[in-house]
Amino acid sequence: MSPILSVKDATKRYSTPEGGTITALDGVSLDVQQNEFVTLLGPSGCGKTTLLRTISGFEDLEGGSIEIDGTPVTHLPPHRRPVNTVFQRYALFPHLTIARNVAYSLEVAGLKRAEIGSRVGEMLELVGLGGFGDRKINQLSGGQQQRVALARSLVARPKILLLDEPLSALDKNLRQKMQQELKTLQEEVGIAFVFVTHDQEEALTMSDRVAVLSDGKIQQFGTPEELYRRPRNEFVARFLGAGNLLGATVSERKEAGAIAILESGQVAHLPSTDAARGERIKLLIRPEDVRMDSTRDAGALRFEGTVKQVLFVGTDYIVHVESDDGVELKATLRPRAEDRGGVTAPGARITLFVQHEALHPVTSAKVA
Ligand code: ATP
Repeated sequence: MSPILSVKDATKRYSTPEGGTITALDGVSLDVQQNEFVTLLGPSGCGKTTLLRTISGFEDLEGGSIEIDGTPVTHLPPHRRPVNTVFQRYALFPHLTIARNVAYSLEVAGLKRAEIGSRVGEMLELVGLGGFGDRKINQLSGGQQQRVALARSLVARPKILLLDEPLSALDKNLRQKMQQELKTLQEEVGIAFVFVTHDQEEALTMSDRVAVLSDGKIQQFGTPEELYRRPRNEFVARFLGAGNLLGATVSERKEAGAIAILESGQVAHLPSTDAARGERIKLLIRPEDVRMDSTRDAGALRFEGTVKQVLFVGTDYIVHVESDDGVELKATLRPRAEDRGGVTAPGARITLFVQHEALHPVTSAKVA
């Protein structure tokens, strides 16, 4: 199936008031499939909004090209591109009713009243605001306003919906609720969503695929699980969730994997790596892969140490441990009731285990 959106080698620079230039996009290529929920994720200033604005046509590209549904749109103005954008500030018309807000673009396009009425009604049902059409915008909650903004953007039936941090103004509970609603809505309308956020949890929960950006480049583009389990480099590993990164040196290559010696002296068997003999690498261990249960983990890496800090996060404890050979480990543990005293008391002695399969080698080099 051909992609609904194809960005090739997109480059964009801005001049700074000091007379310098900033490269906001540095050769970005990205394909989005029909019906896909893709998130652009990265720290402030990495180029996410710029990429979104070049897709919508609010910014021109300096180099590269953009195709939507097989048609080149690189030089088309925003109103001639089959996309719509939902912004962080929804910019609804406060003096108009919900229905008129949603109908606005169809009225401008000159559609017949009956057609407008049925499409607006259908859209309001879809976002859970059926029967609210006559209310004024200022009589709505933040979440309801967000839904009006979504309905307004979808009513014109764009091929792609672009969303620029649309949930960041909402409080945490409402935000989580809206994340689920947005995902359901996307599945129902069946069009591609390109969503911008700097919140990694939001990206992992909602997306089919996530593009992690840094310095105007895509560091990795993949499913949430790929990015979390098999990050390509240290930047992606650190950006997506908590992790332990342990220094090691490859001592021997095997057919697929390798043997590496940790700085603390332990011997690690890496299931897969491209690293060469003698190469210095970092091994990513996610906190939930660190265990207290030795019986299941015969042959696993073993760390004896002291509990430094304990954070109780509801069901689990996040336990910081310093091993006797100097390794700092963060572990997400769910100790049995009889073991809790030992785990949850700073200063307690503890033994932790990590299976070799849970070790993921990463390079420190970013995509250049
Ligand atoms: P944030 O999460 O803070 O919105 P972002 O990842 O969306 O960040 P962009 O807004 O795309 O980042 O900006 C990328 C880079 O380009 C930044 O260094 C920014 O300062 C710069 N930039 C963006 N717009 C302009 C502009 N109109 N003029 C000059 N520099 C700009």
